[in-house]
Amino acid sequence: MTLAEAEDLHAALRRRFGYDGFRPGQREIMEAALAGRDALALMPTGGGKSLTYQLPATLLPGLTVVISPLIALMKDQVDRMAASGVPAAALTSAHEADERARVEREVVAGKYHLLYVAPERLVSPDFLALLDEVGRRQGVSLLAVDEAHCVSEWGHDFRPEYRQIGATRARFPQTPLLALTATATERVRDDIIEQLRLRDPLVHIASFNRPNLVYEVRQRDKGSYHELLDALREVRREESGAPAIIYCQARKTVEDLCERLNGDGVRALAYHAGLPAEERARNQDAFIRDRVTTLVATIAFGMGIAKPDVRLVVHMNTPRNLESYYQESGRAGRDGDPARCVLFYSPGDRMKAMFFIDQMEDPSQRGVALQQLNVALAWAQSDGCRRRGLLAYFGETLPGENCGACDNCLRPRERLDRTVDAQKLLSAVARTGERFGLTYVISVLRGSKAANVIERGHDQLSVYGIGRDLDAEEWRRVGRALLALGALTEVDASGQGYLTLRLTPVAWEVIRGRRRVEMAAPVAPVVRAGRDSAGETLDAEARELFERLRRARRELAEEMGVPPYVVLPDSTLRAMAVRRPDTRERFGALPGVGAAKLERFSGPFLREIAAWLDERGLPAWPEGDAPALWRPEERRAPRERRGGDRVPTWRVTLDLFRSGLGVEEIAARRGLAPSTIASHLADAIERGEDVDTSVLVPAAHARRIAEALARLGDTPLAPIKEELGEEISYAEIRFVRADLRRRG
Ligand code: ADP
Ligand code: ZN
Repeated sequence: MTLAEAEDLHAALRRRFGYDGFRPGQREIMEAALAGRDALALMPTGGGKSLTYQLPATLLPGLTVVISPLIALMKDQVDRMAASGVPAAALTSAHEADERARVEREVVAGKYHLLYVAPERLVSPDFLALLDEVGRRQGVSLLAVDEAHCVSEWGHDFRPEYRQIGATRARFPQTPLLALTATATERVRDDIIEQLRLRDPLVHIASFNRPNLVYEVRQRDKGSYHELLDALREVRREESGAPAIIYCQARKTVEDLCERLNGDGVRALAYHAGLPAEERARNQDAFIRDRVTTLVATIAFGMGIAKPDVRLVVHMNTPRNLESYYQESGRAGRDGDPARCVLFYSPGDRMKAMFFIDQMEDPSQRGVALQQLNVALAWAQSDGCRRRGLLAYFGETLPGENCGACDNCLRPRERLDRTVDAQKLLSAVARTGERFGLTYVISVLRGSKAANVIERGHDQLSVYGIGRDLDAEEWRRVGRALLALGALTEVDASGQGYLTLRLTPVAWEVIRGRRRVEMAAPVAPVVRAGRDSAGETLDAEARELFERLRRARRELAEEMGVPPYVVLPDSTLRAMAVRRPDTRERFGALPGVGAAKLERFSGPFLREIAAWLDERGLPAWPEGDAPALWRPEERRAPRERRGGDRVPTWRVTLDLFRSGLGVEEIAARRGLAPSTIASHLADAIERGEDVDTSVLVPAAHARRIAEALARLGDTPLAPIKEELGEEISYAEIRFVRADLRRRG
């Protein structure tokens, strides 16, 4: 590829899709496809796989055929391509015969760059004849196989039809084949290369790290529901309509949880295999189109859902293996913006999963499932880095010590010697005859006066009441740790589903003082990370505009009959909310706005922005003065956003201010809105930091603001601004108010 061609690729990216740069690997893969070389692309969800054939499709002379396993995915992509002005079509069983015939005619006539088909259609004689015809005319330029892991029995989603793709490809020996997947194990990789008969392929393996996701595992108990509510509230504090998926194992739990959430004012819909197909489709659709923001589902939901802006994925149970967990939790934050993954784990999950595993007939399959389950459970219980653990499962080593974005790294837990507590609990199990469950044993330990304890005479035991120093929950944790350690096992002795604790040889080693028990210190209740950087990007003003733009987007999408993200992604709306473009030209400079979207959407959004500015009496940013935008790389820069001993954001601003930069300059340098920088400085002033306010506010303004504040009291900014008029800025009022507050 020549330099000029490389520049062409970049220019085409900008023109077609409005993106400024390539994601890691995208360029190499596209170059291979354009040069006629086979390629295998392993990229995590959200890595930007689709673009690697979409963009070449617009540059190559002939047709690009995309093999995709799911109709929903195809439809979504065709919609997206249409919104970007790329002619694309799908041939699926969902189409009526005459509709299909029309598409086929148009394909032959060369109307499309991209054609999506299901694998079973690809191998049908009719379709092959169609391809031959295309081959004789404009040619088949590229074959792209999406979700290529479906070809492998070792993947999590084997589809026998995929096996025939290799044979079809043999009919077009000159056509490069591009295989794409988000499943990375080596076995699957080798299988893809072999089954699809790739020739000397470029193999691109991206890192599977998803830096924008925060992982968190919590113990599931009675309080979990409220923790779930908190998590929902928290992601929605930043963004009121933030979409969330909650996964449950059983249909019944889906229904119950859904009902409870609705009862608590969280509008939620259910999705599971027990619902009638139409209802399922309707609920899915409502979620994808942002009509409802919470979906409670069994894991059947999500395959083939490309919704990019899911901000929270919660699992109410431990998944059966880490690969599934990676895929399911990975449905959060495909757009690269911060998102949270929370797993509620309980030792009881093991029993539930075992129930299914025991039903497997093939013993070797059962063995694999059991191993995978144990790995998943160990991961959930571990006090090591979650991200490192997940990546290790895919054979990837995470560089550095602390990932800064998982519960264990954000709140490293001290390891404490809990041998004495372990001995108390194990003795209580022994004294009560290994006939009871954890709850009962704890009630004896804590000296319960409950009738069943007294009647059994357990108040006479030496262990009665020796555990009053800890609350029941902490004892529960000790119990779980002992289960994890293998000192205790739970058995269903009666066969009635009532678990009783049994001691193992390990337990006796502990009781006899031959073995020590260490446990991580209790977890602190909340993790708040990942969101903070997103919070920084939008100040209150921009957030208000963002919400308004989201509404406008939803209306436009409803009119067009497509999901909102097909119109424009959140990242573009956020940029819009910060930059407030007031001309077509400025609109066209927003990330994610290519020529077609500029044409279609600049009008309605520019009107919306103008109306908002008008209502708020705010100006558009003067030319050249609009705040700089976040670049993903900067946004993910570890120093500022990661936990531990990070420097608070206001302090970063303060240091820059002290180095002599003005508010606008700091805003540009940090990629934040000037109003955000102003509030940082106001914060610093209030905290008593030495800030020279005379540089920030002219003396005459300061006097007037101080008077107004004295008159109106310490109110919100708007009434004061109203009182003072145009020439005094919000920022100036903030500074003076902060200064007065500091003085008391
Ligand atoms: P995958 O198929 O790998 O899960 P997608 O192709 O759906 O990922 O891309 C995820 C998101 O990233 C989409 O919203 C897409 O528009 C966006 N995207 C892809 N490539 C780029 C790029 N180079 N710059 C900015 N955004 C991109
Ligand atoms: Zn970590």
